[in-house]
Amino acid sequence: MSLKTMKPAGLHLLLVHLILVLALFSAEFSWYWVGLAVASYYLRMFGITAGFHRYFSHKAFKTNRIFQFILGFIGTASIQRGPIWWAAIHRHHHRHSDTELDIHSPVTKGFYESHMGWVFNRSHKNVDLPTVDDLTKFPELRWLDKYYLVPPAIYGLALYAIWGWQGVLWGGLVSTVALWHGTFFVNSLTHVFGSRRFNTKDDSRNNWFVALLTLGEGWHNNHHFYPRSVRQGFTWWEIDISYYILMVFHKIGLITDAKGVNVDHLLERAKTKG
Ligand SMILES: [Zn+2]
Ligand SMILES: [Zn+2]
Repeated sequence: MSLKTMKPAGLHLLLVHLILVLALFSAEFSWYWVGLAVASYYLRMFGITAGFHRYFSHKAFKTNRIFQFILGFIGTASIQRGPIWWAAIHRHHHRHSDTELDIHSPVTKGFYESHMGWVFNRSHKNVDLPTVDDLTKFPELRWLDKYYLVPPAIYGLALYAIWGWQGVLWGGLVSTVALWHGTFFVNSLTHVFGSRRFNTKDDSRNNWFVALLTLGEGWHNNHHFYPRSVRQGFTWWEIDISYYILMVFHKIGLITDAKGVNVDHLLERAKTKG
């Protein structure tokens, strides 16, 4: 499959920001709509954290093909392109974290470039497909990557069918822009602000603020130290909602082989190494 025909995602990023600003003039404020925006945000954030990140990028657990597609569909509804492109970009980040080759390192490229500037860089439009051949073998995942605007369009139509224009505005536009920046904060903030438990070769940090915004992805120093772990918050106070939900899925058999981590051993190891 060729991803060369894809347009740069940055155009959609700009367009949706612009439409949101214009659409806000017709917004009706109510806590109900705020609730819808928050629910839509966290539903799709789960598609990004549990789906695009822990499953597609890191293979932290296994699942059946139908649930794999559902995770891919929900993640793609976030308008962050498809699971194959996302995983390829993310695996590249882990291979080259905070070096000149890292596409979105705040350490080498600064805040703006790491947050969203990199999205506009056309050279990231095509990815190194051999690094994601475990994903490209599924035609339905290739379809999601090729038609990555179809899931958001279906999502938007569903919002319209249930709630009308205010539903599209709050559950779609407001929620999606917030979701983008929540996701981008993992790149721009958690390699600069927070604490370092493990002496990783990058500058990754554990950041509680980003963890709350992203259902647990803020425990980024833990994650860089042990990327294949389904769990990213290593202590009881490191809130990791994606992990808790995935454990429920594991209990009911929806996912299997969740790659655990010997937290006590790792915490002890971090202590002895200072
Ligand atoms: Zn990172
Ligand atoms: Zn990762």
